[in-house]
Amino acid sequence: MNKVHNFSAGPCILPQSVLEEASRAVVDFNNSGLSLIEISHRSKPFVDVMEEARSLVKELLELPERYEVLFLQGGATLGFLTTAYNYLPVGAKAAYIDTGTWASGAIKEAKLLGDVDVIASSADSGYNHIPKNIVVPNDAAYLHFTSNNTIYGTQFQDFPKSDIPVVCDMSSDIFSKRIKADDFAMIYAGAQKNMGPAGTVVYIIDKEQLGKTGRKIPTYLDLEKHISKDSMLNTPPVFPIYVSMLTLRWMRDLGGVDAIEKRNNEKARVMYNAIDSNPLFKGHATADSRSHMNATFMLNDESLSETFDSMWKAAGISGLKGHRSVGGYRASMYNALPVESVQVLADVMAELARVNG
Ligand SMILES: *Cc1c(COP(=O)(O)O)cnc(C)c1O
Repeated sequence: MNKVHNFSAGPCILPQSVLEEASRAVVDFNNSGLSLIEISHRSKPFVDVMEEARSLVKELLELPERYEVLFLQGGATLGFLTTAYNYLPVGAKAAYIDTGTWASGAIKEAKLLGDVDVIASSADSGYNHIPKNIVVPNDAAYLHFTSNNTIYGTQFQDFPKSDIPVVCDMSSDIFSKRIKADDFAMIYAGAQKNMGPAGTVVYIIDKEQLGKTGRKIPTYLDLEKHISKDSMLNTPPVFPIYVSMLTLRWMRDLGGVDAIEKRNNEKARVMYNAIDSNPLFKGHATADSRSHMNATFMLNDESLSETFDSMWKAAGISGLKGHRSVGGYRASMYNALPVESVQVLADVMAELARVNG
């Protein structure tokens, strides 16, 4: 098989060993003669998968006892509404930080249920940075923010200080670096950026912060109901959860989030050095807000794009086109992307400058 350097923003690269094991399980799961996707989700073999996936999340994030882990459906997008239903009391307001498309999507859903105070925004500068010196009001029910902005390539370097419960959409940087998970009332993340295939979303929940809104919550959006059913309220997405479990094992075996963070720091160093040291390119995000997951950059001279595009394609690179709202290029460097792939891209960029500089 030809090696492809997969910089896709999501769904995205997964470890090769995970893909191989998952493909075997689709045909014959654990030598049972049955496929993983043709057995009951209530059968012991699948319940074991679910329990291992949940406990690996607890282990990797070093979660205290009071935290629960759920694997649900609806993507992070349904998480926007689930957040408001579970944390916004009737008549209360919520504080949101607007750092891009996903953050504004979350704001839009919360507005369906109550008042939203957008306490900081980088919309006026094309979402090219993370707002600084954010003051979180104590009279809001909770703070919501998006830790990594997949589309614009910005990432919180330090999380805002807050005395109220904090909910975070970590879809595109979960398990990419050490965090203090117990600072959060809830973290949610769609699987398809750093954990697995599309089709499941992980919720990491401080149980003690639930049940305070006085709302009637639709069954599927009620996190307490899911917790009481051990994430099996209805048929869970068995295949995405299984692949996520394999990826979580892979992360643990690599040395956990600290080891992954080291790799990710190295990839980001190579990538941003390739942009900054090259006269033909400029980055989209300001230096202090740059994402270690998604590097956004463009050519100063658009007329070189055809040459550049054919060069990176010839080098076996895939998925480098920027999001339509930013343009240019986006190199997504999720956990499973090897350092060598970033080096290949850096070399192509340097070669472009050598020939056209
Ligand atoms: C991709 C992404 C989403 C959307 O996730 P879906 O699973 O497609 O709903 C939301 N937030 C962030 C930060 C993302 O990167």
